[in-house]
Amino acid sequence: MLTSPVLVLNLNHEPINVCQVRRAVVLLGKGKAELLENGRGEISTPSAKIAVPSVIRLVNLVRRPFVQRKLSKKEIFMRDRHTCQYCGLQTKELTLDHVKPRRQYGDHTWENVVSACIPCNRVKAGRTPTEAGMALLRRPKAPYPNPYYVLYNRTILDEWRKFIPWVDVG
Ligand SMILES: [Zn+2]
Repeated sequence: MLTSPVLVLNLNHEPINVCQVRRAVVLLGKGKAELLENGRGEISTPSAKIAVPSVIRLVNLVRRPFVQRKLSKKEIFMRDRHTCQYCGLQTKELTLDHVKPRRQYGDHTWENVVSACIPCNRVKAGRTPTEAGMALLRRPKAPYPNPYYVLYNRTILDEWRKFIPWVDVG
């Protein structure tokens, strides 16, 4: 329950994040957010009953919240839509590949890290795509700071839908 996802809207109603109930309750408690939707009933604490939020809205406008995205496995897989950037296979069995290998002093940056399936990673090994005779589907780059990016590859909860009516349900 405490780790269930909560949709966080900016003051201007743009979705800016998905956090956990635990974090949302703290934001509500500190007056940094207001509860928009409570689709999950209440939790009891020693002092009070607290609504379990499913959608909250920040009381202050957060500007440019997406500029700094931390490079991580999860973020790279999300950017690449869980698709191997060499063969195009969509799979959960992905690895991180440094386009210019680390041993050739390739950087650990958005521009040099892509998702690769295990077979492609094995074939490429410690080589550049050119050396391995492989081609990238697209040039890797830092994800565009799109506010709706936060919803990619997320399960959209029913309680969220009226706040994000443009999201393709299919
Ligand atoms: Zn592959």
